[in-house]
Amino acid sequence: MITGVGASDGIVIGKIYKHQTKELVVTKETIEESGNEIERFLEAMEESKRDVEKIMARANIEMGEEAAAIFGAHLEILNDPELSSAIEKLIIDEKTNADYAAKNVCDSFASLFDSMENEYFSARAADIRDLSSRIVANIKGVKQTSLSEIEEEVIIVANDLSPSDTAVMQKDKVKGFITDIGGRTSHSAIMARILEIPAIVGTGNATTLLSSGDFVIMNGSTGEVIVNPDAATIEEQTAKIKAYNEQKAIWKEYRDKPSLTKDGGHLLIGANIGDVQDVNAAVENGSDGIGLFRTEFLFMGRNSFPTESEQYEAYKEVLSGMDAKPVIVRTLDIGGDKELGYFKMEEELNPFLGNRALRLCFSMPEVLKTQLRALLRASVHGDLHIMFPMIATLDELLKAKAVLRETQEELSRENIEVSDSYKVGIMIEIPAAALVVDVLAKEVDFLSIGTNDLIQYTFAADRMNEKVSYLYQPYNPSLLRLINMVIEGAHKEGKWVGMCGEMAGETDALALLIGMGLDEFSMSPSQVLKMRYLAEKIDSAEAGNLAKAALTCTSEKEVLELIGKFKDSDYKLIGMEV
Ligand code: PEP
Ligand code: MG
Repeated sequence: MITGVGASDGIVIGKIYKHQTKELVVTKETIEESGNEIERFLEAMEESKRDVEKIMARANIEMGEEAAAIFGAHLEILNDPELSSAIEKLIIDEKTNADYAAKNVCDSFASLFDSMENEYFSARAADIRDLSSRIVANIKGVKQTSLSEIEEEVIIVANDLSPSDTAVMQKDKVKGFITDIGGRTSHSAIMARILEIPAIVGTGNATTLLSSGDFVIMNGSTGEVIVNPDAATIEEQTAKIKAYNEQKAIWKEYRDKPSLTKDGGHLLIGANIGDVQDVNAAVENGSDGIGLFRTEFLFMGRNSFPTESEQYEAYKEVLSGMDAKPVIVRTLDIGGDKELGYFKMEEELNPFLGNRALRLCFSMPEVLKTQLRALLRASVHGDLHIMFPMIATLDELLKAKAVLRETQEELSRENIEVSDSYKVGIMIEIPAAALVVDVLAKEVDFLSIGTNDLIQYTFAADRMNEKVSYLYQPYNPSLLRLINMVIEGAHKEGKWVGMCGEMAGETDALALLIGMGLDEFSMSPSQVLKMRYLAEKIDSAEAGNLAKAALTCTSEKEVLELIGKFKDSDYKLIGMEV
């Protein structure tokens, strides 16, 4: 059995597909017979063109013309005689191997484009780097497939999956995924929960122990992978799948009910989404709104920044799709583990402590402005809440609000209508912001606690590094005191507080957070109904006592024991064990 961190619920049985993400090693060799190398290179070019044509045709059918155009640009580069002749020349002049020559020439073309510091050329540089790996793989005879090319139902095993890997994944083909590294809050895990694909991360060695074609049963709740199971195990697991589905059917009955506690207290249980299409899942699961739209995913899987009108269409669709329910749209949060192929970020020693999210947006004012213009224009189509991520200081918040104000004035000069009731809020995900919540709350309409980052910054433990994953401690009294401080501080200013970090979707956290007075919970759509069902079994006053006791505990273990007792006493929260 292989074990990892259960990152997205569900049990599936299927065949393994190993996704190789490692870069191929290319070394310079001296070759006496250049003719053979040129032949190898030309064959690889033809093979690469066939690969790209195939992907382009599929992209056109499944993702539309825009996605296909990305691959059209790849074909143009492959057909560019300048590129081919430069590679052939290097093979002859330096009597070197084809893969080295191809990589070398592609790298220098890409660097040249990068140095032009222009969005269009940066995108071309990213295209060339992508193609360089494809050509080199074809010269070496190694097939490197993209996740968009999978043709049968499989469970993917990879060292890691980037957010853009998950963005191009075909949801109907991928039954689940298992990775060597990553934690519950890495973005590929978050995407898996949104897509309702069972996932296990941080196994350490799944790629070593599993091969393509292996038959496995994976449990995305417990983090267990059973390899090549016998008939009795398959039968036992099939029964578990059945029981899980029956439980889901009970939760489904809560789809059109309001989110209430046992004593009738109102909560909002919203959905976290990353894509316009995710609105369907949010609606199907009866979400009370969108608590977090991670807009950075709109910026991925393409070869240039989305234009104002493309963004406007996306925001409009989400707002109107939610039918006047609140929609919290977070401004672009790239950096950290979220990269864009067409926009090269400077390498940093500590990307999560570096130029990410709003900090990066301030250095690209036109990108932020374009997004805010699109959002404000879309504001007339629903109940828009604009949320700024990674606020550390009051100055940053005031600066963001000033850009928003300027943008609104600009639109008003152009006679473009903007709703007069949209709301402005911030994420509390940096301890510095939590500590001055009273100051920040005066400047906003609402706040939302981002525990994924708040935990990593409070414990100084990189959320991507499994060696320090023991410090991911949502139930540690230090974090609970920060959360409590934020809720109390914001309430004193008459502002409501939500939570959109992964903790909001944890069943163990529900009573504790109700007890602290959290107003809104936002989680992947697939968790909404389970939480609504459980909330109805919790009495606010009892939960308040639980929270009070937890705040005086000395360790996470002690808090978890308290929660355990709470679950075992009057409430018998069935459903918790899934
Ligand atoms: C968070 O930090 O809790 C959050 C919701 O944002 P992200 O996971 O996208 O960084
Ligand atoms: Mg965050």
